[in-house]
Amino acid sequence: MFPAKFTYHRAASVQQALELLAAHDDAKLLAGGHSLIPMMKLRLAQPPAVIDIGRIAELSGISRDDGSIRIGALTCHADLAASELLRQECPLIAEAAATVADPQVRNKGTIGGNIAHADPASDLPAPLVACDATIHLLTADGSREVVASDFFVGLLTTALGEKEVITHLSVPAQTIGTGSAYLKVEHPASGYAVCGAAAAVTVREDGTCAAAALCFNGITDSALNARAVAGALVGSSLDDDAIDAAVDGHLTADDPLGDVYASGEYRLHLAKVQGKRALKLARDRARG
Ligand SMILES: Cc1cc2nc3c(=O)[nH]c(=O)nc-3n(C[C@H](O)[C@H](O)[C@H](O)COP(=O)(O)OP(=O)(O)OC[C@H]3O[C@@H](n4cnc5c(N)ncnc54)[C@H](O)[C@@H]3O)c2cc1C
Repeated sequence: MFPAKFTYHRAASVQQALELLAAHDDAKLLAGGHSLIPMMKLRLAQPPAVIDIGRIAELSGISRDDGSIRIGALTCHADLAASELLRQECPLIAEAAATVADPQVRNKGTIGGNIAHADPASDLPAPLVACDATIHLLTADGSREVVASDFFVGLLTTALGEKEVITHLSVPAQTIGTGSAYLKVEHPASGYAVCGAAAAVTVREDGTCAAAALCFNGITDSALNARAVAGALVGSSLDDDAIDAAVDGHLTADDPLGDVYASGEYRLHLAKVQGKRALKLARDRARG
C-alpha cells in the first residue's frame, strides 16, 4: 500500500518546524513514523505535506528541571525505559515504556508521537495521567501547558492544535514514600495494551495512604482515570482488603471498548484484576 502524494520537508529546528507548519495547511509532523506512516499507507491520513522533526536534537533527552523531570518530545521509548534518572525519580514512565511492543518500535517510536496519536491502547497515556504530567506545546504565537488529564480528549483525539508542536513533557519527581507500578495485558500480535493499569500510592509513616492514583489504558477511548478508587483509598490502611474493596466498589467505566479480541465486559474485568495487582505492587514498593 502506498500513501497519497505529499510533499516532504525536513525541519532543522523547532523554529523551522513552526514556520513550515504555518506555511502548509493540514501538514503533519513526522517523528518516529510508527503511527503516521501506517495511517498514511492505509490512507486513513492523507496530509498534503509532511514535516520531519525527527532530527531536531533540542527535542530529545531527559533531564532534571527543578523539582520535575523534563522529557523531550522526541525521546524514544527505549531511552525512557533505560533512563536511570526516570527509574529513580518517576519509575512509572520508564516501566510503561519498557512494555511497548518490541525493540524496533521502542527504538523508533517517541513519547511525543505516542501521545499526539493518542491510541487508546498505547502505554504512555495512563502513566502520564497517574503521574500528573504536564505537556508543553509551542506555536508561532507562543507556548502553553496542558495537564495530561486534560490532554487526552477521546479516541485518537487530544487537546493539541493543528499548528502546535509538543516540545517536552514535565513529570513531578516522585515524593518519598511513593511507589508505583504499571501492569499490562498485551495484545499478542501488536503488543498494544488490552488493559494497562498504572498505579501510584504514597504511604504515611503509619502505613496509611496519603495519596493514590489509578489509571488505565485500553479500557475506554482515552486514558481512564479511576478517581473514585483513588479517593476511597486515601486514609485507608492500604491492606489487601482495603484495595480490593476500593476497586470493587468504585471502579466503573462508561462505554468500555470492545472488539473481536476482548469485549468491553472482559476489559472491565481485566481492569479490576490488574488494578488491584498494580495498587498492591505500588504499595509494596512504597513500603520498600
Ligand atoms: C507494530 C507496532 C506496535 C506498537 N505497539 C505499541 C505498544 O505496545 N504500546 C504503545 O504505546 N505504542 C505502540 N506502538 C506505537 C509506537 O509506540 C509509537 O509511539 C507511536 O507509533 C507514535 O510515535 P512516533 O514517534 O512513531 O510518531 P509518528 O508516527 O511520527 O507521529 C504520530 C502522530 O503524532 C504527531 N506528532 C509526532 N510528534 C509530534 C510532536 N512533537 N508534536 C506534535 N505532534 C507530533 C504526528 O504528526 C502524527 O500525527 C506500536 C507501533 C507499531 C508500528
